[in-house]
Amino acid sequence: MSRLAYVNGRYLPHGQAVVHIEDRGYQFADGVYEVCAVLGGCLIDRDFHLERLERSLAALAIPKPMSRAALLVVLGEVVRRNHIVDGLLYLQVTRGVAKRDHLVPAGLRPALVVTARRIDLAALDAKAARGIAVKTLAEIRWRRRDIKAIGLLPNVMAKQEAHAAGAAEAWFVDDDGLVTEGASTNAWIVNAGGQLVTRALSHAILAGVTRRALLGTAADLGLAVVERAFTPAEAMAAREAFITSATAFVTPVIRIDESPVGDGRPGPIAMRLRLAYLEQARAGRGAHANHA
Ligand code: PLP
Repeated sequence: MSRLAYVNGRYLPHGQAVVHIEDRGYQFADGVYEVCAVLGGCLIDRDFHLERLERSLAALAIPKPMSRAALLVVLGEVVRRNHIVDGLLYLQVTRGVAKRDHLVPAGLRPALVVTARRIDLAALDAKAARGIAVKTLAEIRWRRRDIKAIGLLPNVMAKQEAHAAGAAEAWFVDDDGLVTEGASTNAWIVNAGGQLVTRALSHAILAGVTRRALLGTAADLGLAVVERAFTPAEAMAAREAFITSATAFVTPVIRIDESPVGDGRPGPIAMRLRLAYLEQARAGRGAHANHA
């Protein structure tokens, strides 16, 4: 079965889904995106993703490509036409096509691209059950990381460097010596008192949708959360550490640089959160009540 993509009003075979060379997304990374998990054919935390998309667009003064209702129809169609049961939906809005000039001309029509692909949930579960290593790296990104912008070169470089060191994720460390977040995930630890610690929202990190939903899951499980920054040393000495994202859900961290976290195995709190998160997401319960 061939994959289909939505490109500016048309559903096209993946191989023929192309955009103009003067799309500002291509020339200036002038655009934003969302990645949304699909479980059982449903978009998980759909409304949270749409809210964040609208915030990212507003921050860059890119008009919405269509109404929320129309966008939901397109997203649903891409999932349906690709027969996705468990997968990922990718959507990207760029400012549109114009003669190359930093200055934004008036009246541009934003471009919308939506794709979807399947994921192997069993492989993701196996990865979580093994736990992952992370590598700390200097924060080299811009100062508006709250905008989910498509310019991801520092994130790509960090992921490559982490991979070369045998780690699955990079954790950025800012000039104050504090962890901001992962290259494509939010960073969490469980402290000696059993509290979850994750950096507070600001321009320094992306407001992860999984982070947001997990705050609800944690409350449901009676786990206390402290929203503050932590150092790599604190994380290395923590009881547990884990990452969150729409693609990793909750995945335990078992090593940070050369230091094992806890006993070097996935922590019980992280695993409990993962199970509860997925269970609630599938059932459309808790913070996930908004999904399609
Ligand atoms: N932080 C960064 C830099 C990301 O790129 C992502 C996801 O792509 C996240 C955090 C996690 O966000 P979400 O839970 O919405 O996937």
